[in-house]
Amino acid sequence: MVRAVACRLPCRLPRKIAWTGGPNGSERKRQPLILGWQALESVILPRFRKAGGYPFSRRGIETRNMTQVTTLEPALLALIHGKLRLFYELTDQATRAPKQVEFARQREQQYRQKLEATTQQLQSLRLKAKEKQTELGSREAQVKKMQVQQDGAANNREYSMLGDTIKANIAANEVLGVELFELLEQVDAEVQLEKQAADVLAKAVVETKVTAEQTADTITRLERELKVVEGELRDLFAKIPGDLQAELQRKRPALREKTVTPVDDGACSSCWQIITPQMKSALSLRQLFLCPGCGALLFMPPN
Ligand SMILES: [Zn+2]
Repeated sequence: MVRAVACRLPCRLPRKIAWTGGPNGSERKRQPLILGWQALESVILPRFRKAGGYPFSRRGIETRNMTQVTTLEPALLALIHGKLRLFYELTDQATRAPKQVEFARQREQQYRQKLEATTQQLQSLRLKAKEKQTELGSREAQVKKMQVQQDGAANNREYSMLGDTIKANIAANEVLGVELFELLEQVDAEVQLEKQAADVLAKAVVETKVTAEQTADTITRLERELKVVEGELRDLFAKIPGDLQAELQRKRPALREKTVTPVDDGACSSCWQIITPQMKSALSLRQLFLCPGCGALLFMPPN
């Protein structure tokens, strides 16, 4: 069973204690599992001292991997922080750049689909208009035929019957004519829409091409700048003692520009864990600290 309790020493950091059942059902306290200052002093420090030891106070817990130098100029750390920010800003720009081309291509595709839909609609309207025109033509021919029949009518009754049918047909043809007219107007409007859609697509195609070219240039420039900044960072990191340098490089992909980060308003500016007064005073003495919250290398911003 593991219980989290607050450390009794001034750090008040939570630490976990494991308990096991004793021989008679009673509970027996075991070694602390996770470090509090107490564990550091009772377990880790003696081991380091035994192994040849190097001087660091309990405040120096997070610099335990260091073997040579225990202080670094805050100005140097501030410089590293600045370069890291620049590096990741450029990295983000390089990541974002291809998305603009992707966006332009998607937009172009949308316009292409719209044009295709308009063309299809136009074709269907033209077909309908043609069918209606054919129908009207055949009905008009029928009326003409009936008029000829009417002229040759055998009697008055047949004449007037044919006259009624012709009238009804002419009225129906007029309705058909209005429908045809409306259809032809729709065709005209759709032709305009198709033309507009084609223009918009043509513009989008050009835009995509320009964006792709510009993006390629941007990426080339960013890669060049990144190479320079990475070189500068390598030189700066080389000034950090070996073990700590390796640890920071390992954390860099996760912590990014916050790998080396200033204390801001009494807290780590990466994870906003409050810095204890002891750590603060040690930081002022340029001792090195990794933030207990996020593992970033902390420094007091130089004035
Ligand atoms: Zn932190």
